[in-house]
Amino acid sequence: MVYLKGAEVIEGGDFLGLGDIADSLARSVEDAASRTKSAMFEPVIRLGVTGLSRAGKTVFITSLVANLLDRGRMPQLLAASSGAIRAAYLQPQPDDAVPRFEYENHLAALTGPAPHWPQSTRYVSQLRVSMKVQPAGLLSGLSGPRTVHLDIVDYPGEWLLDLGLMDQSFADWSAEVLARNASREFAAEFLAMAGDFHARDTFEESDAQALAQSFTATLNAARQAGYSDCAPGRFLLPGELEGSPVLTFAPLAKPDRPARRGLWREMERRFEAYKSRIVAPFFRDHFARIDRQIVLVDALGAIHSGPPAVEDLRHAMADVLKAFRPGRNSWLSFLLGKRVDRILFAATKADHLHHSQHPKLTAIMEALLREARDRAEFAGADTAAISIASLRATVEETLDHKGRTLDCVRGILDETGKAAAFYPGELPSDPAQLLVPAGQGETKWLDGDYKVMNFRPARLDLRPGFGPPHIRLDKAAEFLLGDRLR
Ligand code: GDP
Repeated sequence: MVYLKGAEVIEGGDFLGLGDIADSLARSVEDAASRTKSAMFEPVIRLGVTGLSRAGKTVFITSLVANLLDRGRMPQLLAASSGAIRAAYLQPQPDDAVPRFEYENHLAALTGPAPHWPQSTRYVSQLRVSMKVQPAGLLSGLSGPRTVHLDIVDYPGEWLLDLGLMDQSFADWSAEVLARNASREFAAEFLAMAGDFHARDTFEESDAQALAQSFTATLNAARQAGYSDCAPGRFLLPGELEGSPVLTFAPLAKPDRPARRGLWREMERRFEAYKSRIVAPFFRDHFARIDRQIVLVDALGAIHSGPPAVEDLRHAMADVLKAFRPGRNSWLSFLLGKRVDRILFAATKADHLHHSQHPKLTAIMEALLREARDRAEFAGADTAAISIASLRATVEETLDHKGRTLDCVRGILDETGKAAAFYPGELPSDPAQLLVPAGQGETKWLDGDYKVMNFRPARLDLRPGFGPPHIRLDKAAEFLLGDRLR
């Protein structure tokens, strides 16, 4: 192994002298030795954090890290409350080519004198928290504390949903997307253009650009309307790829005889390039190395948007589970050396609800998860559902309103900067009351009206040893990490 790596360097690089070769081999041996040592004595947990854009990934990671460094608010993380975690600190992350999660900036946004929400996740990033843990049990007195590294990998959920593209041809993918959008008003313009253009037998870049722009606008409108089926994910979060040919394609119905140099064939080529140049490297370099996963879901946002968004969320959750259990013949199964063994689905922003409604939100998440497991025929990893608030921005208040007692939350409205009490509506105790109409294609809730407000993070006065206030972040951490910290 080690020598192979050295040989690769020599072959691929410019000419190297003998001294350089010996140097590079020695370095490889040292690297490998230090990696082996750290793998044996300093276990690494790679925690994947994902969810669609604005699901709450950035706030979650920031608050989790702050609450691991100062563990006063983590009683349900047993290794924290028992004192087994002796110390926690940030370390340089081991992957040089992956951007570091901007923890300090995000924390300053949330906890500074004028608190505000941080910039959202747009690409993959990573952060390493290392913990000195004193083992419990028989051997506890004999050995000193050991170091456990937690590598948190933040990546957009939109990229995960791209997995579905890998096993699809351009023709099949196009047919599926066009059919799904047929009944959506906001897709009408794109569908008309795609219908006009699809059989063009010469290729013009301007046609490709017009189609890709209109398709991207449709995907953005779908996200706005609360839909989760927004692949290809890089169309929504292009980063440095914006405008490149690999993102300049769109679904087109297959003409009877696609011309060799026509529009359809070029779109097909770009679709395949997107898969091999963008989707595959992401799964190989990041996804395949994850041990534990949390999937953040803005379930309240979907409920507020209405039954089609909830129905869509059901599909998205099943798609996510499929990514963690690819079929035996899928290309991904060749990549996955080890499997993720715990996956937590967390409804975020639970501080929008009075605690009396939290069990209802959790029950809805559990019902969605049960269905997603059935749809994806998923088995293997431990899965669980929970509702959390990574950063609690509200306090609870019970008000009398027109002769009714309402359990409200009070916070500072993001839009106006004014404090207000807010009643989001009563979630049903039986999740079927939401999931059945969603599954039956209803477009509006018959007997409920659910609202969401944007609250600003509250000003914090943190005592030493205490991280930012949250709801059940410690319970989520216990599920994801607890067994590895004992
Ligand atoms: P990302 O795109 O998944 O990284 O999402 P962010 O972490 O940036 O969160 C998106 C938005 O959701 C934030 O700007 C907040 O408005 C809201 N948000 C996230 N977490 C919480 C939370 O715990 N409580 C409340 N009230 N709002 C939250």
